[in-house]
Amino acid sequence: MEITRIAIHQVDLPLKEGAYSWSTQSFAAFDSTVLIIETDSGLTGVGEICPLGPSYLPAYAEGARVGLAQIAQGLIGEDPLQIGRINQTMDALLKGHPYVKSAIDMACWDLLGKATGQPVYNLLGGLLQEEVTLFKVISRQDPAAMAGKLADYQQQGFRQFQMKVGADAGEDIERILAVSEVLQAGNVLAADANTGWKQHEAIRVVKAVRDVDIYIEQPCLSYEECLAVRRHTDHPFILDECMDDPRVLMRGFQDSAMDVVNLKVSRVGGLTRARQFRDLCATLGITMTIEDTWGGEIATAAIAHLAHSTPQGFHFQSSAFHEYHSVQIADGGPVIKDGYMVASSAPGLGVTPDIAVLGKPVAVIGR
Ligand code: MG
Repeated sequence: MEITRIAIHQVDLPLKEGAYSWSTQSFAAFDSTVLIIETDSGLTGVGEICPLGPSYLPAYAEGARVGLAQIAQGLIGEDPLQIGRINQTMDALLKGHPYVKSAIDMACWDLLGKATGQPVYNLLGGLLQEEVTLFKVISRQDPAAMAGKLADYQQQGFRQFQMKVGADAGEDIERILAVSEVLQAGNVLAADANTGWKQHEAIRVVKAVRDVDIYIEQPCLSYEECLAVRRHTDHPFILDECMDDPRVLMRGFQDSAMDVVNLKVSRVGGLTRARQFRDLCATLGITMTIEDTWGGEIATAAIAHLAHSTPQGFHFQSSAFHEYHSVQIADGGPVIKDGYMVASSAPGLGVTPDIAVLGKPVAVIGR
């Protein structure tokens, strides 16, 4: 099989609730990029990359599209089913920029599934869990509003929650205390600062909420600051933004720096490298949140396939991003019910992009 043409689409994903706020940032919509790979076989593969705004990670939406256009010409004529070779070629064409490569890698897995008649989860290790536990994000607002949201989400069947903090440490203490009051038996709550606290602020917060049953997620920017906070708390601890490479994962394992790792597909460069990261975590006994920086039905399908093929005991929770939007960009996205999602069992990722919604491609590379 040969890649003949690569089309890059841009689409805005507006938020049903009007805004999504974390740490000191807030957005009304996210800018997503959908990539469609055409082949000489007639099969097409689809991938998606949606950075969480331009200053969350070293990734931004326009950068994804410029980077894809940079790489795409060098992939025309390559066999998309040779995914290791595709990754090697991408690394030779562009150093770094794993998020750019994620969309191409994802589309190649979609093609491999379609070519072999298998859902991607079968190719990533098999169906190790029938349904994928979801968490619902409680966007940063005032404490009472966040507590109200948690109660609404409980009514929708969610049992696991991640509340956004990381703005003002004093207010964040109030937020955590207010939201934790609404928790029911069996609920799980994480307070995610998304790198927003300075080390001294994070230490204040963990001390003030010592008796609350809560996970603390990525309090500070660097691995070293997070490790210092970890050593001042007995809360279960999640590392996310700083876990961008297997080397830092190994360091975290050696330092006992975290109990859970948040694995984001695009941050590590796609499903191929996320699978490697996932398998390393499971081997080391580290439980994972499996998600991405954001996305619609396509990126969420990739998350769901990776999570389905992860041992249940090492899967903490995942995000179903398409649930947060007022537009649908593809058919066949994971089905959400009672706090779980289930990926399509159709070959590949099981999603069909809606070209009427995506519009004309912003760039087309190939024959
Ligand atoms: Mg996080």
